[in-house]
Amino acid sequence: MSRHRNVRGYNYDEDFEDDDMYGQSVEDDYCCISPATANQFIYSRQERHAPREEPLEEEEFEDEAVPMSPTVNHNLNPLDQAKLYSCLDHMRTVLGDAVPDSVLNQAAIKCGFDPQRALDAVLSEDTKTAPVTRSTAEETGTVERANQDKAPQPQRTKQEAVADKAKSRDASHNKLDSEVLPKVARMTVSGKKQTMGFDVPSTGENGVVVTATEAASKRPETPSKGSNGDEPVTGPTPSRSSGKARQAIDIKAELEKRQGGKPLLNLVVIGHVDAGKSTLMGHLLYLLGNVNKRTMHKYEQESKKAGKASFAYAWVLDETGEERDRGVTMDVGMTKFETNSKVVTLMDAPGHKDFIPNMITGAAQADVAVLVVDASRGEFEAGFEAGGQTREHALLVRSLGVTQLAVAVNKMDQVNWQQERFQEIISKLGHFLKQAGFKESDVFYIPTSGLSGENLATRSSVSQLTSWYSGPSLLEQIDAFKAPQRSVDKPFRLCVSDVFKDQGSGFCVTGKIEAGYIQTGDKILAMPPNETCTVKGITLHDEALDWAAAGDHVSLTLTGMDIIKINMGCVFCDPKEPIRVCTRFRARVLIFNIEIPITQGFPVLLHYQTVSEPATIRKLISVLHKSSGEVLKKKPKCLSKGMNAIVEIQTQRPVSLELYKDYKELGRFMLRYVGSTIAAGVVTEIKE
Ligand code: GDP
Repeated sequence: MSRHRNVRGYNYDEDFEDDDMYGQSVEDDYCCISPATANQFIYSRQERHAPREEPLEEEEFEDEAVPMSPTVNHNLNPLDQAKLYSCLDHMRTVLGDAVPDSVLNQAAIKCGFDPQRALDAVLSEDTKTAPVTRSTAEETGTVERANQDKAPQPQRTKQEAVADKAKSRDASHNKLDSEVLPKVARMTVSGKKQTMGFDVPSTGENGVVVTATEAASKRPETPSKGSNGDEPVTGPTPSRSSGKARQAIDIKAELEKRQGGKPLLNLVVIGHVDAGKSTLMGHLLYLLGNVNKRTMHKYEQESKKAGKASFAYAWVLDETGEERDRGVTMDVGMTKFETNSKVVTLMDAPGHKDFIPNMITGAAQADVAVLVVDASRGEFEAGFEAGGQTREHALLVRSLGVTQLAVAVNKMDQVNWQQERFQEIISKLGHFLKQAGFKESDVFYIPTSGLSGENLATRSSVSQLTSWYSGPSLLEQIDAFKAPQRSVDKPFRLCVSDVFKDQGSGFCVTGKIEAGYIQTGDKILAMPPNETCTVKGITLHDEALDWAAAGDHVSLTLTGMDIIKINMGCVFCDPKEPIRVCTRFRARVLIFNIEIPITQGFPVLLHYQTVSEPATIRKLISVLHKSSGEVLKKKPKCLSKGMNAIVEIQTQRPVSLELYKDYKELGRFMLRYVGSTIAAGVVTEIKE
């Protein structure tokens, strides 16, 4: 959805046109494929079936048998291969590198590519031998199931799945300190097959983080504001749909009024694992008063006791036991803070390569980004070289439409605030960012120390720094970002990132409104399954509201529909102007730095908003000139790195899509293959 914004509402075609830059001429060493993954490619390449020799008879590609693409397992058809990769991706997000690929493969195939069952199978094996994995699994609630039921499980009902999910949330959130002030919501990989989403706990009084289930038991339903609009009503929601006509509002004027006219900015923090993202943002939140001293002191004591004293600030955002044990961010932590002129929704994305799908979900919803790099000698280089996440993250956010970037050159205390080191990093990174498609004038470099707090909320007074740096602090830079224009004038669109049961008659969904606005009492359409329901309550940052508009991350209480019909990735829309649902569409793609060419039938994972869906490249339509868009070759046999092309993509299940020209954010996607991002694309034609 084009938000007509300065930032993301950028003419994407220009991205393809004016460069050499946007992913095109990224030099060979600018590879976003990790060596581990590259090995998989190489392995697959060598082992694969002989490629189809005959040229593609192209006039009509009609449903000819697609040739096998490189795979790990050759006995599978392309769809099953796609399912396998998707299942493996899902399993890796839970297990990381702890279990060898061969074991995951076997389990995935044995369990019919059902990630839950496959995980259960792997973990039940592991419980006999690996206590470390057990603690991980306990955190996710999978061991319990695995131990209870080692035989293949019957299909669990949605309600059971929801209850399980709530249970696992309870388990992790019960551990949280009741004094935590920042209201950190989680975007997490859900237990659902092939999907991802937020796991958004509500925040009760005193900022106590409570789970959806707890919240439901504490308040009957998502409260709606009283008729005077002042005080939230804590009883059952007075439904405006019952009888009363929808009150027309001037949405632009209301938006102006809200938050004292401060525009909303969705900011994602990205960067290589251990660059200091969580510490930096945790410290910033502390300096802004979003974490009180007592809580911070408690974190310090606890982290010291756990032998991880240096992670105290990171614990503000890294909430789960597993994140703290492993010292890595896994989910996307979401919270809110204010600058002088903006209200910022902060998303702390995981840096580890195993959690890139979560990072994509976060980045897809961001307007601007802070890229954190570690200035320490050797560490910047490790994050920047092929296989490090600095490049992949930067490419991903740019491909997902982020154009403004603040680079926090962090851990400057480690290099004595040396100007030379700062300059060295700027010049290396600057070159790459330009090639990735960022304009030089939209990239800002700020020397910081997340640990000591220098140059975060206020300008630093460290003489080693002030002797050569007089630029803004990180907060000043965030404040200076241009806020995007939201598409409030377009028909309503909300992409679901989580679904959970409330205690009242309805259920709740969370997600970001991509276009338009809604009011309580509105009837909205879910696509798929093409059914309508009524909006009973709207919650934004734990505040009950009568309306919400494009750009808001909201929680909706819905009635008149069965929860079982809604999944992550469903799009709620205006029934009069619904979004289209398809399994086949054409797109203009930009191929990243891949090791092996993409052929017809190539299995991929389509990452689109909160959806991660197995798909195949059904047809290779044409190769385009990267600047002029002119067709260079029709019906190519394969696509290799740096190419611009039109392809037809077939998804396993129906997905809701928009054309890029109509809604920029809903017309963009990424393609991944065996854990690596291989292409970015925009939807040009919806087939069926
Ligand atoms: P993330 O993986 O990017 O979120 O990194 P973390 O925030 O978890 O930090 C990783 C490690 O780097 C922790 O031990 C932090 O204490 C340390 N760290 C973070 N920022 C700084 C900094 O500015 N200076 C120094 N010396 N260490 C830091």
